[in-house]
Amino acid sequence: MVRFFCPGCWEDFPADFEICPNCGMDTRAFWTDKDYMDRLVVALDHPVKSTAGRAAWILGKLGSAKAVTPLISLIKKTKDIYLIRSAVRALGEIGTEEAIQFLFSLSDCRAQTIRDEIQLAMELNGLGIGVQTTSDEKEIVM
Ligand SMILES: [Zn+2]
Repeated sequence: MVRFFCPGCWEDFPADFEICPNCGMDTRAFWTDKDYMDRLVVALDHPVKSTAGRAAWILGKLGSAKAVTPLISLIKKTKDIYLIRSAVRALGEIGTEEAIQFLFSLSDCRAQTIRDEIQLAMELNGLGIGVQTTSDEKEIVM
């Protein structure tokens, strides 16, 4: 079933609407000046993690360099490991220098599943050097 959600308050509704019944936002105006990529970037903040993860996945497949900064800030602010993994994968697929640099900075992350995902992302970009292990206690980004 398709659900419609308000980008202002993230309330979701079974039907489309122009003015959010919950917060009164003019959603039609909000969406019409956004292209598909912008909408996906907005959806990264969706409170339903699987929706946010799906948006990250699509952005990765699209290889949108525009999505790199929003994906990085998503990784920095979310505590959801699956969402982080989706965003890491998307960054690997986009593969810009900024994305790769950021993935490097995460490579001493405590979560094994994230380190594995980073390793895959590096291999995808021909950087099959594995994840570096450092002895000095670097600040954990997550
Ligand atoms: Zn609303």
